[in-house]
Amino acid sequence: MPIKNRLADMQSEIAAWRRDLHENPELLFDTHRTAGIVSEKLRAFGCDEVVEGIGRTGVVGVIHGKTNTSGRVIGLRADMDALPILEATGAPHASKRPGAMHACGHDGHTAMLLGAARYLAETRNFDGTAVVIFQPAEEGGGGGREMVEDGLMERWGIQEVYGMHNMPGIPTGSFAIRPGAFFAAADVFEIEIEGKGGHAAKPHECIDTTLVASHIVVALQSVASRNVDPVKQIVVSVTSFETESKAHNVIPQKVHLRGTVRTLDPDVQDLAESRLKRIAEATAEAFGAKARVDYKRNYPVMVNADEPTNFAADVARAVSGDCVEAPLIMGGEDFAFMLNARPGAYILVGNGNTAAVHHPEYDFDDEAIPAGCSWWAEIVERRMPAA
Ligand SMILES: [Zn+2]
Ligand SMILES: [Zn+2]
Repeated sequence: MPIKNRLADMQSEIAAWRRDLHENPELLFDTHRTAGIVSEKLRAFGCDEVVEGIGRTGVVGVIHGKTNTSGRVIGLRADMDALPILEATGAPHASKRPGAMHACGHDGHTAMLLGAARYLAETRNFDGTAVVIFQPAEEGGGGGREMVEDGLMERWGIQEVYGMHNMPGIPTGSFAIRPGAFFAAADVFEIEIEGKGGHAAKPHECIDTTLVASHIVVALQSVASRNVDPVKQIVVSVTSFETESKAHNVIPQKVHLRGTVRTLDPDVQDLAESRLKRIAEATAEAFGAKARVDYKRNYPVMVNADEPTNFAADVARAVSGDCVEAPLIMGGEDFAFMLNARPGAYILVGNGNTAAVHHPEYDFDDEAIPAGCSWWAEIVERRMPAA
């Protein structure tokens, strides 16, 4: 069973929904307009239940199959939020909200899951229940965590859960997936260094926080290169270096560093956290300064369960004729919270030769819609075949 005809026929309509979402991007949990459109459409499609406000602005739709002798319940999840980026695509459907942009294709994800929901509500050619999940705040806000903590899995008895993300660099409509750890744990840290501010011409009377912070930035690179087993993956990036004063003649009293640590293994994550704290505190102390470290574990490692991954790959091959092994990705993905709550799998659908996600010239490729929607629908129809 390749692309479903009904979904291919709906492509231009789904693309129009997608472009409307693209023109009106919303950030983090502030996805009120998007959630309103999603619930309005789900009701119009005839979903059996539509509930708003799960995980603040998340939306859940329930679609019962023709029968329910299997008792199975499958969750399908899309993300709705955009990014704080000034769009540079020049597309006719470009963002009408300067400084906000669908640069990660969540407009496409939302539209594709809506398309699949419409098809499933029309056909109901399965034995069990499909739950469509639309989450806010994937981009750092932990909307997936909020929905899970709000009782998403228990309330609807979800037994397994599937997710999809577009990926530039993979041919449009082709798929890629891998079992086990797939996306990295994304931790964030802040280091406040306090020394003794003063006149830049009298450094001997100061404790130079800029110098101390520079030593810390350099020393932190030894976590990856000297502390962690070289066959294991880790990224330590200092992304912000902020002094209290912008003047040429002031040694600032305080400097703030910010950054992120990405790992795929709990032991490496523990090691990175303890080394980072020790390096910051001890380096500062060596110079007579003080470092305060705030280290926060944000998204956990996203792990695809083996059997659902094989199943998801089989469905992808049936839909597009191909499903390759995806590489490890050191980015974070808050679908990890749903996969920690229930077994399931997360797949990549190709977006062709576009700019990378999070780039101001990125745009979702509407040609991926028939394959993406068909994959969702087939997951339901194959996992819970009509009695
Ligand atoms: Zn993103
Ligand atoms: Zn994304």
